[in-house]
Amino acid sequence: MGYENVEFEKDSLFLVTGGAGFIGSNLCEAILNKGYRVRCLDNLSTGNSKHVEMFLNNPNYEFIEGDIRDYETCKAACENVDFVLHQAAWGSVPRSIEMPLLYEEINIKGTLNMLEAARENGVKKFVYASSSSVYGDEPTLPKVEGREGKVLSPYALTKKVNEEYARLYSQLYNLDTYGLRYFNVFGRRQNPEGAYAAVIPKFIQILLNDERPTINGDGQQSRDFTYIENVIEANLKACLASSNSAGQAFNIAFGGQETLLNIYSELNDILGKNIDPLFTTERKGDIKHSNADISKSAKHLKYCPDWNFKNGIREAINWYENNL
Ligand code: NAD
Repeated sequence: MGYENVEFEKDSLFLVTGGAGFIGSNLCEAILNKGYRVRCLDNLSTGNSKHVEMFLNNPNYEFIEGDIRDYETCKAACENVDFVLHQAAWGSVPRSIEMPLLYEEINIKGTLNMLEAARENGVKKFVYASSSSVYGDEPTLPKVEGREGKVLSPYALTKKVNEEYARLYSQLYNLDTYGLRYFNVFGRRQNPEGAYAAVIPKFIQILLNDERPTINGDGQQSRDFTYIENVIEANLKACLASSNSAGQAFNIAFGGQETLLNIYSELNDILGKNIDPLFTTERKGDIKHSNADISKSAKHLKYCPDWNFKNGIREAINWYENNL
């Protein structure tokens, strides 16, 4: 369970791309806490410089401000690296529908640059963020790897292309790649601000301000909300996975299913509020229900998530109450 006992060779160096972001900064912190070295590559486009400053005093931490769209930057960042945890990308389905060209450049070209840089530098493992959005319009639940539908947004397409490139890099160049299909991750340091913020931090912030949030659709849509600690576990364990499992993608979730209305009432309860939400139309590109089968990641990565939604949300709220 968890990642407490996950160990690497002394002085191992991890490159975390997107390390100034929500998931990336949590990965940096976990690796530093375990006593290993971290290099963070981020262009601070959607990340937060505070998530870099908090580690700058640690001699095991190094920050490179740079863009994954630039191959030379990726190559320099991969020098002497043992493990790449590639998180840098632009998220958000609706924003990708507005700006498909930018998503192609950052998420596809940027990831290809990172794969090539990792290959050239002979890194041991290349673990990267994919997304549950690759399941597209396939309605069957739970979502199982190998049963994907047609993607519904440019964002989802970029993740699908990433998976194909990563598979090829394993097949053609023996680079051990592992795609982690995250399902709606939440937890400390996730950005609550802006039009493209994820639903949990956004709702927490709005409720803390005693305002009314807006729910897209009827609120009956469901998701397999996944606490950040589970995602850290998956990344670290993927770095230890067998080469026989390389070139594949794995669901990373808790394996639960919560409707937005459930979540909303849970947040109200924990925060001691009783605020009615507003409702608006459904969002384009969104899927109605999501729930993951995590048996493949359990088998290949030894992933065994500790944190269910209820425990995770309490920790997350506690963090926002103290840090907003
Ligand atoms: P985030 O926006 O908080 O972090 C992304 C980081 O990447 C930011 O710090 C940003 O500045 C950096 N970045 C963006 N473009 C870059 C570029 N061109 N060069 C260098 N750095 C760049 O997002 P997050 O929620 O932490 O997501 C991390 C990864 O996980 C992304 O690949 C995302 O698609 C994926 N993912 C996240 C979720 C989720 O629920 N949060 C779900 C599925 C997949």
